[in-house]
Amino acid sequence: MDICKIFVVICFATGLHCNPLFPYDLVDLTRNLGPDSLYYPTLAGYEKVIELKGSKKYGHWVYSNVLQMTEHVGTHMDAPSHFNKVGWNMHQIPINKMVGPGVIVNVKEKARNNPDYRISINDIKEWEEKYGKIPDGAMLIMNSGWDAKYPDKNSVYGTKNISDLSSFHHPGWHEDTISWIISNRHILFIGTDAPSFDYGQSTTFPVHILTSRENISGLENVANLDRIPPSGSIISAAGMKTVEGSGGPLRLYAMVPNSGANNSTVIIGTSNVLLIVIGLTLLTKLQD
Ligand SMILES: [Zn+2]
Repeated sequence: MDICKIFVVICFATGLHCNPLFPYDLVDLTRNLGPDSLYYPTLAGYEKVIELKGSKKYGHWVYSNVLQMTEHVGTHMDAPSHFNKVGWNMHQIPINKMVGPGVIVNVKEKARNNPDYRISINDIKEWEEKYGKIPDGAMLIMNSGWDAKYPDKNSVYGTKNISDLSSFHHPGWHEDTISWIISNRHILFIGTDAPSFDYGQSTTFPVHILTSRENISGLENVANLDRIPPSGSIISAAGMKTVEGSGGPLRLYAMVPNSGANNSTVIIGTSNVLLIVIGLTLLTKLQD
């Protein structure tokens, strides 16, 4: 009888204690934020001032900085208010509009010899032929290979003179493609591994204007897109909740389903339930 009681306790303890494994690999899509972080030359770069550092004065270690920089620096998001007067500011974007299925459109080959390349409707159709219709709430991001050039300013902006804005050459999204996406699909974010989702030669920024009008947010200078699949990931872009903020650096990451972990989850999940059922059955018998 005592052995039975011990077994009941083991069943409950093991069954309730073992949580299913987290079934995703996490991939960091974020660049380090620091003095080397890139920003549009007309904006303000990253500056850090130490406000507290040391242990003598307080009797324990304390460290804190004041940061000053444009909201649009390094890996960052654009709130719709960046290009739409009545668009959502950072603090107004609902949390369920900041996470969604990753759709990565790879145009590395096309952009390699043409830095002015813009993603066409055809590129989207080709993606859909391979991976199916762009899912609702997608985080639609261009992988142009520009990640490899970061943080070399001249190389990223495709120029010899970073203060001459008209000399910029980097790939982006074509406005016709974005108009088609807005009419025919439903996305939450438009993104790029380049410094802007409007291409470098743009002076009118139509992609920013079209997307922000629909309260679609943006992602720029995205890193590590080669490490996530074209389809099947979940991307979290939960930016800072700054009041009246037009954007901001964020810790951007993707969750990529891990097939090994998925199997373990099923096995562990099933065995948890089995152990609890065995425990309950034994408990009922013991009470008879
Ligand atoms: Zn921006």
